Amino acid sequence: MSERVIPLVDQRTAALAARVPATPVAPTGLLADSLHRPLRDLRISVTDRCNFRCNYCMPKEVFDKDYPYLPHSDLLSFEEITRLTAVFLRHGVRKIRLTGGEPLLRRNIEALIAQLAALRTVDGLPPEITLTTNGSLLARKARALREAGLQRVTVSLDGLDDAVFRRMNDVDFPVADVLDGIAAARAAGLHPVKVNMVVKRGTNEHEILPMARHFRGTGTVLRFIEYMDVGATNGWRMDEVLPSHEVIARLRAELPLVPLDPSAPGETAQRWGYANAQSQHDPALGEVGVISSVTQAFCGDCNRARLSTEGRLYLCLFADRGYDLRSLLRGGASDADLASALGAIWQGRSDRYSELRASLPPESGQGKRRIEMSYIGG
Ligand code: SF4
Repeated sequence: MSERVIPLVDQRTAALAARVPATPVAPTGLLADSLHRPLRDLRISVTDRCNFRCNYCMPKEVFDKDYPYLPHSDLLSFEEITRLTAVFLRHGVRKIRLTGGEPLLRRNIEALIAQLAALRTVDGLPPEITLTTNGSLLARKARALREAGLQRVTVSLDGLDDAVFRRMNDVDFPVADVLDGIAAARAAGLHPVKVNMVVKRGTNEHEILPMARHFRGTGTVLRFIEYMDVGATNGWRMDEVLPSHEVIARLRAELPLVPLDPSAPGETAQRWGYANAQSQHDPALGEVGVISSVTQAFCGDCNRARLSTEGRLYLCLFADRGYDLRSLLRGGASDADLASALGAIWQGRSDRYSELRASLPPESGQGKRRIEMSYIGG
């Protein structure tokens, strides 16, 4: 059983000031960081709360009733989120992902989605809007989310076996309700529906083939995620990681697969198509993916920024501090000043933690200060 660590320092308190640079950085839609990576994907955490306690993300021992969740007054309002997102879009963002905690716990999130759907990218197009959820509330909300302007959804589901799933979410939540949510999302026209399974060696790797058999040929895209050393509380160990190449080998032992090209620059998943008897991809059978942040880092074209629920800009999932955009926002900054500050921050970005992970000396202590995934979203 891996050791739990109660973080001594609440990383949310350690913010970097977001400053308006002396030389303005005007939004051209072509912003790039110090490694020439554009800004294309904005992940917005709308709550730090969740109704699950998945042990690789929000271990119950840490996130208990005494955990200091953010007071509502600290959270960005929907209008503030929308105003900031408009600035990100002018810098080149094209895709918005709503995350949490569990984003469907944020009351009236449909209103936020409708506001975001009315925005436009630099090409004058509606942004792509998606959401990552544990699926617990999806059956009830899918239709309203679709009508508000949500285009697609990603559901986290770590197994089909009810006992395994209840153990992993650690709140005894039944798998059947999440499967109902996935069916409701499909019926509501959210497309594609993607399902993410975190694979933890010694916990749920035996669920890999049952999950693939279940979703193959249904139009739902299943992805297997390597167990990551996110945050500072999940007691991560490398020997609990099942590398993606082993996942693919297990699948291919029964289900023929062929490699597929990425569907967009910066895509985190490696895509594999289910093959027919001629060893060609059969679109009717669909595809499966692996996300290999530990064994095959993809920082080289990482174009993702993360906005926390109280307005901090994080440049990497494994960051230990974020830039406080809320103070600028509530301090009366103009949109041009916000754009300039955001532009300067991104231009200075050099994050590539997954590429450096193996070379970081343990005494760097970096691991003990990382922000929690439950706070910043995946
Ligand atoms: S580790 Fe950081 S820089 Fe690398 S892909 Fe993940 S979020 Fe991007």
